[in-house]
Amino acid sequence: MSQKELQKTKNFINQIIENDLYNQKTHTKIKTRFPPEPNGFLHIGHAKSICLNFKLASNYGGTCNLRFDDTNPITENSEYVESIKEDVRWLGFGENEAIHYTSDYFEQLYGFACKLIKDEKAYVDTQTYEIIKSQRGTLTIPGIDSPFRNRTAIENLSLFEKMKNGEFQEGSHVLRAKIDMTSPNLNMRDPTLYRIRKVNHHRTGEKWCIYPTYDFSHCLSDAIEGVTHSICTLEFEDHRPLYDWVIDNSGVQKKPKQIEFSRLDLNYSITSKRKLLSLIKENHVEGWDDPRLPTIKGMRRRGYPPEAIVKFCDLIGVTKKQATIDFSQLENCVRENLDKNTPRTMVVAQPLKIIIENLEPSEEIVINAPNHPKDLSFGSRNLILKRELFIDKNDFMETPTKKYRRLSIGKEVRLRYGFVIRCSEVIKEGNEIKELRCEYIKDTLNGKNPPGKKVKGIIHWISAENSQSISLRAFCSRIVNPSLEFLSLFANLKSFLFDAPKDKVVMPLANKNL
Ligand code: ATP
Ligand code: MG
Repeated sequence: MSQKELQKTKNFINQIIENDLYNQKTHTKIKTRFPPEPNGFLHIGHAKSICLNFKLASNYGGTCNLRFDDTNPITENSEYVESIKEDVRWLGFGENEAIHYTSDYFEQLYGFACKLIKDEKAYVDTQTYEIIKSQRGTLTIPGIDSPFRNRTAIENLSLFEKMKNGEFQEGSHVLRAKIDMTSPNLNMRDPTLYRIRKVNHHRTGEKWCIYPTYDFSHCLSDAIEGVTHSICTLEFEDHRPLYDWVIDNSGVQKKPKQIEFSRLDLNYSITSKRKLLSLIKENHVEGWDDPRLPTIKGMRRRGYPPEAIVKFCDLIGVTKKQATIDFSQLENCVRENLDKNTPRTMVVAQPLKIIIENLEPSEEIVINAPNHPKDLSFGSRNLILKRELFIDKNDFMETPTKKYRRLSIGKEVRLRYGFVIRCSEVIKEGNEIKELRCEYIKDTLNGKNPPGKKVKGIIHWISAENSQSISLRAFCSRIVNPSLEFLSLFANLKSFLFDAPKDKVVMPLANKNL
């Protein structure tokens, strides 16, 4: 990005980084990261985070790590890892960067946990998840200390090792930080650092049966990688004191700085992997790459160019204020990009045969048409006008309305780049229009009108012989028979789904009695 462009898109994170690099001089180089959990495909919200992190790094001569936050093997798998890698690269980032995995740090993270235990800053709690939750208190009621809070470091170390060795059942023990059960910030009330999960991990296999929580592993992975600015969405603001606590008490040298920004919310769209997954599981869509979904893969199949998505992310900016972005902003970026970069062709979605009666079956007229209406560098192609053509059903009206400018009996319309034609007869089978009989009017090429007439309508057409069939995607907008579980997941989006314009909806529900 040029200095001028950078100036235009500057946000509060740029200011923090510039301050660190040039004023305070706490850093000479920055490092950011994009840390997806491989539990689903990436969506448009992730694109915002990808653009932000990778662009900050490149704009300030730093680096950005793609790191898989793979600490929950129950929901994660390597198919998700592969699709995320592909999407990040498709968007144009991380081509030459090594890929990182939190699971590569499991040994180190275990070491950090042991240090906390030795320093009496972590303990093994032998209570169930439900009991621990019930002791947590609320915003107005302080939490209650666990009866296991004062176990000795030696006892804790031995129990933690047994947890690691698979000697306990899932849910029987957890490792917790020893912070403050009366803290006004609930995240600081002795949060869980490790839990037992006897499941196969897609990278480490059966090696581990204890897995660190996000709050413990994320900040330390940042520190291990030398991340300087750890940028995340606003819901982690309340976790920042814990992020700092773990870092401060683990003895790491270089402290990463967590900065929060507001997540992208796009109207008519679902940007939650969990909700997207429920659409897939219930077969409302074909899969993660269904073109109706706002996943990167879905948008790719929809025909969105990666540059348009990146442009959109630049345009919406980065702030701390939550706002819903209108879908039309994304569409504008796509339209602008496609308009500039796409060669045109003519398409007939619902073919209606027309016979040009004043052309012999053997006759053909070759018309040269530009491939792009505004850019000659796209070259041109030859269209072949013959006796049998197809136009779209919607471009003919038997009983035209007053302002209808396309074809009707006795009226004229222009075939795009071609002649003006006039319709003389409609051939029907019952009520169905089967064919139109027309004639072409000579000397009407290059926008010339027939004598005494001004033909305003221009329609697409294809020659019956010289065309090929393609699949067109019309965006379906109905969900039939959603399950109760599905409905409860989307309950808060109900009115919004009904109001949404049809072509923009990811999944409005069919049943209005919800
Ligand atoms: P989801 O709610 O869809 O599961 P997530 O936040 O759990 O999303 P992660 O894989 O953990 O998904 O996200 C990786 C990164 O992408 C995180 O840094 C997260 O903050 C960011 N991110 C996720 N959703 C959005 C969004 N809507 N806008 C901006 N950034 C996002
Ligand atoms: Mg997450």
